[in-house]
Amino acid sequence: MATQKKEGPRLDFFSDWKYSPAPESKEHIRLNKKYDLFINGKWQKPTGSKYFATHNPATEEKLAEVADAGEKDVDAAVQAARSAYEKTWRKMPGRERGKYIYRIARMIQERARELSVIETMDGGKSIRESRDIDVPLAASHFFYYAGWADKLDYAFPNRKPTPLGVAGQIIPWNFPLLMAAWKIAPALACGNTVVLKPAETTPLTALKLAEIIQDSGLPDGVVNIITGAGKTGAAIVNHPHVNKVAFTGSTDVGRIIQKAVAGTAKRVTLELGGKAANIIFEDAAIDQAVEGIVNGIYFNQGHVCCAGSRLFVQEGVADLVIRKLKDRMETLIVGDPLDKNTDVGAINSKQQLQVITNYIQIGKEGGAEFYQSSCELPKKGYFVRPTLFLNVSQSHRIVQEEIFGPVLAVQTFRTIEEVIEKANNIPYGLSAGVWTDKGSKIFNLTGKLRAGVIWANTYNKFDPTSPFGGYKESGFGREGGVHGLLPYLSL
Ligand code: ADP
Repeated sequence: MATQKKEGPRLDFFSDWKYSPAPESKEHIRLNKKYDLFINGKWQKPTGSKYFATHNPATEEKLAEVADAGEKDVDAAVQAARSAYEKTWRKMPGRERGKYIYRIARMIQERARELSVIETMDGGKSIRESRDIDVPLAASHFFYYAGWADKLDYAFPNRKPTPLGVAGQIIPWNFPLLMAAWKIAPALACGNTVVLKPAETTPLTALKLAEIIQDSGLPDGVVNIITGAGKTGAAIVNHPHVNKVAFTGSTDVGRIIQKAVAGTAKRVTLELGGKAANIIFEDAAIDQAVEGIVNGIYFNQGHVCCAGSRLFVQEGVADLVIRKLKDRMETLIVGDPLDKNTDVGAINSKQQLQVITNYIQIGKEGGAEFYQSSCELPKKGYFVRPTLFLNVSQSHRIVQEEIFGPVLAVQTFRTIEEVIEKANNIPYGLSAGVWTDKGSKIFNLTGKLRAGVIWANTYNKFDPTSPFGGYKESGFGREGGVHGLLPYLSL
């Protein structure tokens, strides 16, 4: 539990007691020592016989080895997907496709505990997040899109919705299972087949999903899951028989992908970085807003592309909000992600820890006022204390660039016009948050903020019926809702 810092907030009440540890059991988790590639319904060894390790970022222990797919393996996966598309999946009536997707959803629910624990072990996020958010949402995406499989003609009346073919899908490490669900469920509902690659640091839940898909009896080759790093991703993107590329990840790789598909007939959707503005007006419910700030940037270690990493507070309440925020930061429990009390888990990898540490240094050198909670960090593993930078300006790098860690940059504002201008003055446009008592202010802002998702008096809420995606360098295309069907259809 937090200890008192010299000039920090006065929370003596909290320093007197501690939560007892409440670790989630991992006794029931069965991981193979080695995972092969899931191609054409079977586990196949990589042609180059290469494997790489995936670690638990909270303990630095090796969890398993996974195959490193080379070009030949990518080709085998794409061929399997192509053949399954031509022979079975595109011809299957929507109501039959829907049954398989429902079955996958049910099986995710049945194995929810196992999936949550593995997600936490492999990715470092708190068990509370993976248990209450990632895994239930992954199941609900499959449920939701299962419902659309036989209703595409109703979704797009007087059109002829037809699938595109083979979808190559590349996902990042922040929501491994959920991103797999976001990508696979709509693709299958629309009649496409899939080659999916999880991120190299978090492959395990996607491989567990492959087991589920195998058990579900989905026809061979409809979903292929292959592991590897950037090279494998590039081979998927560049394969001539991939008809659609769906990518979630960094803006830099998004640019590479867009260049790679330029001049081809491939369709593409990109969900890239973000630097969301979380805006607190004087008339907001302050305690609720402070909780929203914490939820927006500190839970899940800031490993969310829509994280509320820029805070804008109206001047009249700035001191109050900052004081309450610092108090709340002191109470955050940073540590073992498998412990049910933990608020802030481990940073996903050593490399990402380095990125965050560099940005903290850049913020300090840039002259911003720095504050961190005073909690102790575990001796092993990759952890960062919840961090604040005050008195930052628009030109600070920590304000302009995505950090992808629990680091918040705080600015104040006086008028609506000012905050709209500041919030939009950024290359990204994925999400934003607004906290106010006035509905009119919410509508005014939502029309003027250049962000794909705007939350009002809440933050980081997701629902499969609601589209998600960005403006500007945050990418294009939407996932979720009816809109999420469009990238997988030609009309
Ligand atoms: P992050 O910064 O979130 O790790 P990246 O964009 O580096 O995001 O990675 C997201 C996904 O893209 C991962 O699965 C990664 O292996 C893959 N990837 C990395 N480089 C490339 C590339 N050149 N082409 C295709 N996929 C890539």
